[in-house]
Amino acid sequence: MSSAKIRLCVDQPLRAGQSLPLGEAQAHYLFGVMREAVGARALVFNGRDGEWLAEVTEAGKRKGTLLCLERAREQTSPADLWLLFAPVKKARTDFIVEKAVELGAARLVPVATDYTNSERLRRDKSEAHVREAAEQCGALFLPEVAEMASLTRHLADWPKDRRILWADESAPAGSPAAMLSAAGPGPWAILTGPEGGFSETERTRLRALPFVVPISLGPRILRAETAAIAAMTLWQAHLGDWR
Ligand code: SAM
Repeated sequence: MSSAKIRLCVDQPLRAGQSLPLGEAQAHYLFGVMREAVGARALVFNGRDGEWLAEVTEAGKRKGTLLCLERAREQTSPADLWLLFAPVKKARTDFIVEKAVELGAARLVPVATDYTNSERLRRDKSEAHVREAAEQCGALFLPEVAEMASLTRHLADWPKDRRILWADESAPAGSPAAMLSAAGPGPWAILTGPEGGFSETERTRLRALPFVVPISLGPRILRAETAAIAAMTLWQAHLGDWR
């Protein structure tokens, strides 16, 4: 195992001898902020080829190059969990994206619901948050950020083998742990609503779908981002990669 502490997410394929030119932001971070120089070691990953040890071969103010040396970790796949979330205010949505990466979601799906305030989500910005979060938390996989679409459209086209764990504050209280263990593993998605919750029309629709499993997250109303974290934590502990 290498002693390199800095992790960088890159786009290029990774193999021994691969040269990795750095963009301006990464060069600034590595040489300006972290004060690294030629000969320093870093870990690199691209979400596909595992994690590699690399060495700085060129260090400039605005550019630099790494040389890929050897694989430090094999690529792994995340547990099969999507997060469907209604975007909320910007900083809180960024927080949801960051925590979803840390908690091992395989796909992030922003949904427009009847009471969603944010009509659009900057996908490029969310993808940048995904990369930063993966660099920081040691993840090897980069979850895809889907295009924002309406909940109605998602439900009309939903893969029927993927159950939806619907965070529903009106669901009867019970033991979510027992319910999840009984429901069993497989492809899952978590669905959380916006600040205003789900409309009555949405609730009626969701309750009628056989692949939707409503879950209470306790007797208090959680903020949307807390609900997303709580539901992902429960799922990972009982059906995901924390077991
Ligand atoms: N204003 C809404 C209401 O009172 O109906 C509350 C919405 S809450 C801030 C945002 C989302 O978090 C909800 O749509 C739901 O998905 C989830 N949530 C919050 N508290 C929850 C709880 N106790 N159980 C299940 N889901 C919860």
